[in-house]
Amino acid sequence: MKFSKLPLSKEMLTTLDSIGYKSMTPIQDEALPLIIEGKDVIAQAKTGSGKTAAFGIGILNRLDVKKFRVQSLVLCPTRELADQVAKELRRIARFKHNIKILILCGGESFGRQLGSLEHHAHIIVGTPGRVLKHLNKESLDLSNLETLVLDEADRMLDMGFIEEIQSVLAFAPKKRQTLLFSATYDDEIMQISKQLQRDAVSIKTESIEAENKITEYFYETDNKQETLIKVFTKYKPSNVIVFTNTKIEAKELADELQKVKIDAIAIHGDLEQYERNDVLVQFANRSCPILVATDVAARGIDIKELSMVVNFDLPHGLETYTHRIGRTGRAGLEGIAITLYEISEEDKVDEYKNDKRIFAKSDLLKAVTNFEMKPEFVTLVVEGGKKDKLRAGDLLGALTGDAGLKGSSIGKIDIYDRQSYVAIQRDLVEEAHKKLNKGKIKGKNFAVWIL
Ligand code: ADP
Ligand code: MG
Repeated sequence: MKFSKLPLSKEMLTTLDSIGYKSMTPIQDEALPLIIEGKDVIAQAKTGSGKTAAFGIGILNRLDVKKFRVQSLVLCPTRELADQVAKELRRIARFKHNIKILILCGGESFGRQLGSLEHHAHIIVGTPGRVLKHLNKESLDLSNLETLVLDEADRMLDMGFIEEIQSVLAFAPKKRQTLLFSATYDDEIMQISKQLQRDAVSIKTESIEAENKITEYFYETDNKQETLIKVFTKYKPSNVIVFTNTKIEAKELADELQKVKIDAIAIHGDLEQYERNDVLVQFANRSCPILVATDVAARGIDIKELSMVVNFDLPHGLETYTHRIGRTGRAGLEGIAITLYEISEEDKVDEYKNDKRIFAKSDLLKAVTNFEMKPEFVTLVVEGGKKDKLRAGDLLGALTGDAGLKGSSIGKIDIYDRQSYVAIQRDLVEEAHKKLNKGKIKGKNFAVWIL
């Protein structure tokens, strides 16, 4: 559809045309009419689909330039994303003179931001921690806020920003428009939406509710461990849960895999609560690509975007099988389920045979030498948490500020009562560790170690 079917000013339409936006992307087509109407919207669309302009055109359209008050606030998970959003907004804002868009992110001089705020801004783009700091210091006033945007809300939740977001919201008027954008939809996002939005209209441009796309393979083998490694080399999964039927087997298999440089951790009933937590955090934040688990130990693990499930041992029946493999292929992503069995188990696999499941001989899988599976991130543990008033923004600030890391090298941040976990890009973890250990977080020294 053309932008011109929307009630937008002539100048705005000319600008859009001049920057090459000839027609709306699907998300803009669906979301913009609602946004312009003033409705709360929760929208899901993949990266690169034009979400920024979807809300950008909306907030710029209702902006009153003559009113020197903050009218819109866009919260983003990282400084890089905030920069990108501000850049796109400024491009669209060219249609009108004197629109002031200000970036407020951690890791930047607070004093300079204070100075900029004194000159007033119409639109703030920032990260939750720093925005909250300005609100607490009363250098930012949101009493005239009309539209709040949560961009990449799923990533903000992943990074542990929920409390900061809630605190920021306490400074905003109840009567406002709230727009929420997220690449994924799950219970957590829906809950946030319920909490922060009013009668939100939900928009999805891809049918992610479609049936799980899981391809199921059954391999007959006389050496399960060797076949397992061949499966990894063939499908190159990014994260896998391997199911065994006993906890001893889980431990042994994880040890054997580690010996051949495939990074695996076992989770089983013998672990202390804190050890279990360490393992789950590492798996969820991509500091460990493979989790070896028993059915009992895997209960309650909710990992989004699991690329593969392996039944190292045949499950006890179809119900367990369905439960195990249902963990992959979520959110419209393709998943692979692999089941290994020995010739002696041929009778047992009969019940699994249907025209969807692919039965293959494991000797068709090639052996690869020097194959390794290393994680994308490594986890740093900081001996401080909620009880020490540590927030995700403080950790992010210390890492991107004094330690000089980019927001994009930092993964998931999990804050517990007395401990916090930060996923750091693997090749930068030593450096980050050294700097955090030497430097201060929120003005204090905390013990930091690599998990
Ligand atoms: P998202 O936030 O959904 O990942 P962006 O908002 O960053 O995506 O947009 C991705 C790219 O598409 C940007 O380079 C943007 O300038 C461009 N874009 C957005 N809307 C349009 C449009 N209607 N026509 C052409 N290009 C567009
Ligand atoms: Mg975006």
